[in-house]
Amino acid sequence: MEKKMKVQMEGTLESQSLARAVAGAYAAEMDPTVDELTEIKTAVSEAVSNVALHAYPGDLTGDMILEFMMPAPDTILIRVTDRGVGIEDIAKAMEPMYTTDTGENCSGMGFTVMESFMDRIRVDSRPGEGTTVTMIKRLDTYCGF
Ligand code: ATP
Ligand code: MG
Repeated sequence: MEKKMKVQMEGTLESQSLARAVAGAYAAEMDPTVDELTEIKTAVSEAVSNVALHAYPGDLTGDMILEFMMPAPDTILIRVTDRGVGIEDIAKAMEPMYTTDTGENCSGMGFTVMESFMDRIRVDSRPGEGTTVTMIKRLDTYCGF
């Protein structure tokens, strides 16, 4: 694993643009296409918005940790971890259009977006302990130089 990076920031919506920028900066090292870069940044945005909106509801606050690594020269792995409320039923949470949001802010498509833009996504979570979302994407354009 080369070029590991670990960044900690507040688990709030205010961190979303910074998280996008950090993800973009890391991914740019891998010479991605414009589309790949947008996909990676959007997937990270979705994971971060989930921390802000779901992991720390109401008056709860907390940080999130973003980890980046390259398990292979053409592969990016991104992990977003929070220490929030956790997810009771992970399989259900990942279903398209499933949301626990009672207002009209969420459409329940965050995990679906992450799944469609990244090659693999894995969610580990324990109620009361927090959640880790791990995403892997292989970049098509890597030519070995
Ligand atoms: P959208 O992303 O479309 O705005 P959403 O956030 O509800 O809506 P998903 O991102 O797919 O949809 O998440 C589905 C559900 O999983 C959420 O409604 C929430 O209940 C739960 N969830 C997701 N991430 C977390 C997290 N980090 N901590 C706790 N619960 C989470
Ligand atoms: Mg979401």
